[in-house]
Formats: sequence, structure tokens, C-alpha cells
Amino acid sequence: MRPVERGDQPIDESGKPIRFTKYQEASPYLKERLGKYCSYCEMHLPAGLHVEHIQPKSHYPQQKLDWNNFLLACVHCNSAKGDTDIIAREYYLPDQDNTFLVFEYADDGSIIPHPKLTPQQQRLALKSLALFNLSQNTCPENDPRLLQRRETWEIAKEVHADLQNGATIRTVKRLVQAKGFWSVWMTVFQDNPEMLNLFIQYFPGTCQQCFDKSGKPVSRSGGVL
Ligand SMILES: [Zn+2]
Repeated sequence: MRPVERGDQPIDESGKPIRFTKYQEASPYLKERLGKYCSYCEMHLPAGLHVEHIQPKSHYPQQKLDWNNFLLACVHCNSAKGDTDIIAREYYLPDQDNTFLVFEYADDGSIIPHPKLTPQQQRLALKSLALFNLSQNTCPENDPRLLQRRETWEIAKEVHADLQNGATIRTVKRLVQAKGFWSVWMTVFQDNPEMLNLFIQYFPGTCQQCFDKSGKPVSRSGGVL
């Protein structure tokens, strides 16, 4: 799961923080800051992304218009999470932790808690996957997330081979941005620091301080991981 930074509340032309009157008004700002990707499953959605309330608006109406409570989500992650109360430190979230340290991506498309985590951390990682129904290993007809992640794995492996045969970085950039699933690309290219750094740049809002110069993940300041 890509660790992200939404940045400060957007400002208007006169330099004042924008006060949203409807949460949907935050959508263009979030898409500009984070790219048109689901903040949880990482699927690229040129249309159909929702403004996601980290703390559900049903339980926390005072945070309904709070910029710092917003991310972007696809309908599948959004509806799986529903109005679950997000108790601090009970879940790993992409705007708070370095979530790339939390999960491991496998070439069958599955996502599991990273084996290097402690048992307690693994428990929370599993809980976080379950929150978005991301631990499933079947492909229901109405939920394309696993299938698309698998397809992206196949493409990423081909690109990895093509790059060694002279494919241009420009072509790779367009493909990577169009496919999404940032963590898949980061995993397939883990032996290539140059590409890792490009992937970190290609996707708006990736948490820069979550990676060292060679593109390897490091603990996030203020996060548990
Ligand atoms: Zn999603």
C-alpha cells in the first residue's frame, strides 16, 4: 500500500485555506495531490474515485469536511470499510504509516503482512487488509481488484525484462501511471534503485520521507512503521 501525503489544506486565490461546504468539493484537490488512484488497493481509476472519510462521517460528523480526514477510494475499498470506527493504532493507514513496510505483494496478486513484522504487527496488518477486503484470494465477478493486480504483475515482469532490452523509460512511465498498483511495480523492480526512485516520483503524493536514496522503505516519522 503506497504511503501518501495529502499535504496541507488547499488554499484559494487569496491564499486562505478553502473551507469545503460539501466533502465532494475536495475531490479535484485530492486527485491532484494523490493521483487518480485508490489510496488502499492502488487501482487507477480515471473516473469513479470517491472522497473517502478515514473516520466515517456517520460516527464523526464533525470530521465530515475535514481535509485531514480525506483520502481517495474505489467503490470496493470504500464499501468494504463502510462505517467502521477507525481506532488509532489498530490499523495501518497510508497517510500515517509507511504502509509499504507493512505488506508484501506476491506474484499471484495476493497481499500478506510482511514476514519481517512482529506477531503483534502482523495481527494489525491482517486487520488492516481485512478492513478493505484486500486479503481475499478469489476473484468475484463484481470486484476486479485482485484480477487487475495479477495482470499488472504480469505486465510489470515483462517491462522489467524489456527494460534490460532497451525499452525507453518514457514508455515505462506512461504504462506504470496508466496501470496503477504502485506496490506491484515497486516489488517487481526491487533490484533497480533508479526505477524505484522514478516510481516514487511518478505517483503524486507518495511519501518521500518513507524511502531512502536507493528507494528502499524506511520508518515514517510519526508513524508506528
Ligand atoms: Zn480500492
